[in-house]
Amino acid sequence: MTTKIAIAGAKGRMGENLIRSGLSNQNTQIVGIFDVTDIDETFLKKVGLPNTVKTSQEESFIAADAIIDFTSPPALFSFTESAVANNTSLIVGTTGLEKKHFKLLEQAGKSVKVFYAPNMSFGVNSFFNLARKAASQLKSFDIEIIETHHRHKKDSPSGTAIKLGEEIAEEINYSNENFNFDRQQKSEERKSKEIGFSSIRGGNIPGEHTVIFHGDNESIELTHKSYNRKIFSDGAIEAANWLVSQKNGLYTFRDMIT
Ligand code: NAD
Repeated sequence: MTTKIAIAGAKGRMGENLIRSGLSNQNTQIVGIFDVTDIDETFLKKVGLPNTVKTSQEESFIAADAIIDFTSPPALFSFTESAVANNTSLIVGTTGLEKKHFKLLEQAGKSVKVFYAPNMSFGVNSFFNLARKAASQLKSFDIEIIETHHRHKKDSPSGTAIKLGEEIAEEINYSNENFNFDRQQKSEERKSKEIGFSSIRGGNIPGEHTVIFHGDNESIELTHKSYNRKIFSDGAIEAANWLVSQKNGLYTFRDMIT
């Protein structure tokens, strides 16, 4: 079965990668692309799409089985509304989401198929499992997460770093209360049950995440490095192909790989 997809934020860094991944996936047909500024024929030609492709949000939601969203958090208000109105599946890779955005996803998941992953790479999602396993064995070790991204990234720490922290926290019965995002603001010793986060920004790095387990006199580090954005766009296209045959609901990457 071919999945008809449309890509929101088509002019962005991820948008162009999603178009390439969509075009090279045999089970996918791109039927729409849109962005905040108009998509013209020159752009369609540049990315190798025919001019029959829909270029507005409204037409894309009608034509597609699934919309892939790597844009910005405020866009979710109208994307979830359009998804429900048109019975279109929604794959969300946008990061920096807050409680109000997650509520929108949960609400939409009651009437359509919704998939959310702050990191769409298969490698990263397997890295999460390795980190969980390490954390379950290294109970007395101090846990620190360090992430590095390109100079244009707006949110910090990255959605992937937070997700990594959440995965570890779930494994060892911690919660978000154990997260420390603010070490530089306070002059105090490290608490024992803490997961610390640090962010580095620069260059054109698509994403690096390290979790360090510091014990007394020894440390263990696990690192995932992304060399380009194809890992995210290929994963998002696979998610779209998988999602359209599921029941309505809100899914994560773990649902797809287990
Ligand atoms: P970008 O700024 O290069 O691109 C975003 C694009 O979305 C822009 O072209 C912008 O005009 C467009 N856009 C914004 N609001 C829109 C709207 N309402 N309708 C249509 N288009 C809209 O950013 P990017 O590097 O491509 O990243 C986009 C998002 O994806 C960020 O939140 C980033 O953190 C996230 N991201 C997630 C993953 C993952 O695996 N989940 C991987 C990489 C990036």
